[in-house]
Amino acid sequence: MPARGLRRQCGHVALALLALVGCGPVLDEVVERGGPAPLVVDAPIAWPAEGARLTPPPVVVPEVLRGVVVAVDAGHGAPGNTGARSARCEDEQDLVLPIAEQVADVLDAGGLTVLRLRPPGERPTYDARLRALADSAAVLMVSVHADVRLPASAWSPTPGCEALVSHGQPGFSTLWSDEDPTLAPGRRALADALAARLRQTGLPAYDGQDYTGIYEQTGPGVFVDRHRPARRVRFLRRPAVPSAIVEVAHLLDPDASLRIREPAVKAALAHAIAGGIVDALMEDRAVLPTDGAAPAGRR
Ligand SMILES: [Zn+2]
Repeated sequence: MPARGLRRQCGHVALALLALVGCGPVLDEVVERGGPAPLVVDAPIAWPAEGARLTPPPVVVPEVLRGVVVAVDAGHGAPGNTGARSARCEDEQDLVLPIAEQVADVLDAGGLTVLRLRPPGERPTYDARLRALADSAAVLMVSVHADVRLPASAWSPTPGCEALVSHGQPGFSTLWSDEDPTLAPGRRALADALAARLRQTGLPAYDGQDYTGIYEQTGPGVFVDRHRPARRVRFLRRPAVPSAIVEVAHLLDPDASLRIREPAVKAALAHAIAGGIVDALMEDRAVLPTDGAAPAGRR
């Protein structure tokens, strides 16, 4: 459809260029992000389904959360760790960084204090990020990733790009660990809150078909780590504060890897994740710092 083609084309150019060529409502949605004002993406977006609407709920940060520190991580991006490879030969580290940055921007605008564990242009190791988290006053951590799910087949969408492609298994997932019984309830509440907000955007929740044996489903789009002990996910089990991973999409779906770069979709994902963080904080007041006391979540 011509309209779909235009929107896709708009999603490919830099934001500065968008201002010049004019992509109408898409640009407006981006500049309106942040703060308590609701962001409404009211233009139809042909993803995750033709005619679907991504309408992120407003991110309202209550006064009690002002100044509370939360950590946001962009997955991978460490030396030797570029993450998964998309169906279009993009690296996961590059696709998730802008989303994580926008999550941080939305929370910053709402009055939270955000610790960015992988700022743009930096490549800290995972151990360095975990140390930075432990040394901070952050009461919660979310890491933004994107999945690749099998089965898939080989294809070459452009000269020089040899990749895997898979048109099934759509949807986001949120991941948590029940390894520490003290932290498990907060981790699960965070994973649940993130998934609830992502569902509100109109994104499908992943059914977990390719997670058999490594994750167990605990809710719509929500999964607990079931890797064997030596393979369990560090960012789920190591933080001493509630933590969760968001897999925003299935990167072997060539449509998804395009769509998550579009400003409207990226904004919807970022607002959903930011909203889930705020919801989790409000649900588990025990993790919040009290005057002069260390946050309970850092015990
Ligand atoms: Zn990843």
